[in-house]
Amino acid sequence: MEYRRTAVIKLDTPSDAKPALRETVEQFKHCANRASEWCWHGRRQIPPESGCQPETRSVSGDDDGYHVTSKATAERALYDPLRDETDLTANLVQKGIRRAVEAVKSGVERLKRGENTSKPHFSADSVVYDKRSATFHRDHVSLSTVDGRVECEYILPDDTEKPPTKYVSDDDFEFRMGHLQHRDGDWYLHASMRKVEADETPDPDTKHRTVLGVDLGVNNIAVASTGRFWSADEFNHWRREYEKRRGSLQQCGSRHAHENVQSIGRKEDGRFEQDLHTIANELLEEAIEYGCSHIVFEDLTHIRENIPDATWQHVWAFRRLYEYVEYKAKEYGLSVEQVPPENTSKRCSTCGCTHDDNRNGESFECQKCGYENHADYNASKNIGFRYLRRRQNADDGGAPVGVALNRGTLNVSGEYSPASDGLNGSPRESPRF
Ligand SMILES: [Zn+2]
Repeated sequence: MEYRRTAVIKLDTPSDAKPALRETVEQFKHCANRASEWCWHGRRQIPPESGCQPETRSVSGDDDGYHVTSKATAERALYDPLRDETDLTANLVQKGIRRAVEAVKSGVERLKRGENTSKPHFSADSVVYDKRSATFHRDHVSLSTVDGRVECEYILPDDTEKPPTKYVSDDDFEFRMGHLQHRDGDWYLHASMRKVEADETPDPDTKHRTVLGVDLGVNNIAVASTGRFWSADEFNHWRREYEKRRGSLQQCGSRHAHENVQSIGRKEDGRFEQDLHTIANELLEEAIEYGCSHIVFEDLTHIRENIPDATWQHVWAFRRLYEYVEYKAKEYGLSVEQVPPENTSKRCSTCGCTHDDNRNGESFECQKCGYENHADYNASKNIGFRYLRRRQNADDGGAPVGVALNRGTLNVSGEYSPASDGLNGSPRESPRF
């Protein structure tokens, strides 16, 4: 049996190392964004009317003939120029290119399914390290930067029963790779760790599954089954301002005004995309902290019908958020799934009773059992449970599965177990706002 865990470790970075780390992050993003640009616009980078021959490249197995989704093709074309443009080591340049190729691949898959998407953009301060570019120790890490190696001590809580100390201090868990993240002025190492118990054969079907359910909505962009809320206030404010400006510009009716409307839209989209990246990162962190293997959303295909109050901007934000979570999750080995959305907001997550009167705006009160909670939180739990029930009916009734809740895990037959990873507490529910 193989266990994978991600330990989120705060780093004690020597102050003279910070400029090198910051520059490494910037140059890594530069690699990823340059590679994304190149792979996404692929084979039509030189317009035919320019008189130049479009660049010809061999089409390998998984390329779609337009976008480049082959790591080898991308590395052949980009490795040398990016080594020249940056001070990164060969390994980090390669990782930056690969990060972009993975994201472009996900984008191409979405295009094939007929979904809207656009070129992946990397704005989060994050660098991928493997065992060649980093040396992981039990109390510190040595990281390759634009200016040689930098050593950072871990800041670990004393309690060895709780993550991240629990995994970092356990010699049975080996470091596999890490993501260096810079957030609110602090540096973190998200270390992917693995423990293998040799006497058991790994069997992916009976792997323990914990699910993070996520509800999307117009008042809260996202609510996780662990009770974490991401408010849509800022987004809704932006949206109303945008509509106002658009309205006043459109009254002018000129072509100039029309172009202005479009450029405002683009600029604001960009700003809000940053916020969606942050929400996606925090959703990932929530899943990691609660030891989840799956993040489950409602099916987005007909989301406009399921959330009648949603405007086109909300639908845009939901899709973007889903895409970001989907490609970031891949790097951590988490799966992202969708379930049918019918009645997730009207169904009681405690007794299963579905009734139109159960939900009243943001409050949920079950007509049958009296369960009361925030309506979006109730919905996020239903989304998690729906995925579990479908999996159980599908093929692996015996697999231990549960939905991650605020203070533990609830399995499909309603048995509660407190969080094993130190998130102990009573089964009391108190969603965080
Ligand atoms: Zn009920």
